[in-house]
Amino acid sequence: MHAPRHENESRPEVIYLDNNATTRVAPEVFEAMVPFLTEYYGNPSSAYRFGKLVEGHLKEAREKVAALLGCTPKEIIFTSCGTESDNMAIWSALQTSGKRHVVTTQVEHSAIMNQTDQLERMGFGVTRLPVQADGTLLLSDVENAIRDDTGVVSIMWANNETGVLFPIEEIASLCKKKGVLFHTDAVQTPGKIDLSHVAKSDIDFLSLSGHKLHAPKGVGVLYAKRRTKIVPYVIGGGQERGKRGGTENVASIIGLGRAAELSLERLSDEQGRVRVLRDRFEETLLQRLPDLYINGKRDQRLPNTSNIAFDFVEAEAILLDLDLLGICCSSGSACTTGSLDPSHVLVAMGLTPARARGCVRFSFGHYNTEADVDYALKVIPPIIEKRRAMSPLSPEHRDNFAYDVEAAREKEEKLMAQTMAAINE
Ligand code: PLP
Repeated sequence: MHAPRHENESRPEVIYLDNNATTRVAPEVFEAMVPFLTEYYGNPSSAYRFGKLVEGHLKEAREKVAALLGCTPKEIIFTSCGTESDNMAIWSALQTSGKRHVVTTQVEHSAIMNQTDQLERMGFGVTRLPVQADGTLLLSDVENAIRDDTGVVSIMWANNETGVLFPIEEIASLCKKKGVLFHTDAVQTPGKIDLSHVAKSDIDFLSLSGHKLHAPKGVGVLYAKRRTKIVPYVIGGGQERGKRGGTENVASIIGLGRAAELSLERLSDEQGRVRVLRDRFEETLLQRLPDLYINGKRDQRLPNTSNIAFDFVEAEAILLDLDLLGICCSSGSACTTGSLDPSHVLVAMGLTPARARGCVRFSFGHYNTEADVDYALKVIPPIIEKRRAMSPLSPEHRDNFAYDVEAAREKEEKLMAQTMAAINE
């Protein structure tokens, strides 16, 4: 949806089923932030009372975020986003350990994927662990990948595309036993799974992002376990006890504190009501349409995420049709949308490129209602049926017997590549 260009241009009506991409700022969060954008604009590092007052509110926000993880406020470092938290944890762990090998997985977010690519170009070693067909990870693979020169293991808690959960606390204990620092990208977890025992676990670093839990974009958190050595990634002033330079994004941090409070309060809602919405959505589609698969281990996923393979249809076509009807959802992660390549997560799970290109992620959230799901269930089946009837690859196409499916697919891919090359020229 484009941003309003004119004063009188109203927001398009949307059914927002893309809560893993970002979330609406909660009204309570916005309300908490406003005074820090208007009245209380002092710099928290200033010595006078007008600054000290803001510092006091930052302290409260830090306490609220700490409560989400069951840790102390000193273990919370505010950053500019989830990406910065991820980059900082890995960089700091490599610097303080002096080691040159990273263990991660093939299904991480691009924040980790691209940083580890960069580290490889700089001469560091990187092991990217495979996943099973249901998106799960074998603990024995993690154990076998750790070497004497491993400086950090970084494995996401919940996958942003499929919602599949990894056994993070067990992996953290394994790393501790082996004397290796452990980081988890937990950006997709708050308000969806219980994080209140993080400080009791062996996790050394954990990343969060404000805009995934109804706080604004552009604020993040790095949890760093007590006594874990840190080198700053953003180098500047002495903010965040010398661990992250740069004047604090005060209003957003205050918002994040309020959002952390709300997400604790709403955890049971997300785990109950939102799960019911998601499950009804999936069950109804499975009953209504053939050639449809749910990606990821059904009982080891976030309660809000549904990644569905619609065989014989291009996801981009589905997204286009749904967009016209006001439904927001996505194929792959928002950060890689627009790329012609099928999702690296789905390919790592062994989906053929053809099936991976027909996958759509729906992610539900606190503000979704039964009516949203009813509307999506009303419009999706006819869209899929219409698209399948047009696709020569579909068994439902009337001329299907006359087509060589492989040849048609090759031709389609060539055409698509030519179109993209022309666009990129
Ligand atoms: N990690 C995961 C798993 C994510 O889903 C995202 C956002 O999509 C990020 C990291 C990056 O967070 P941010 O957008 O705050 O940089």
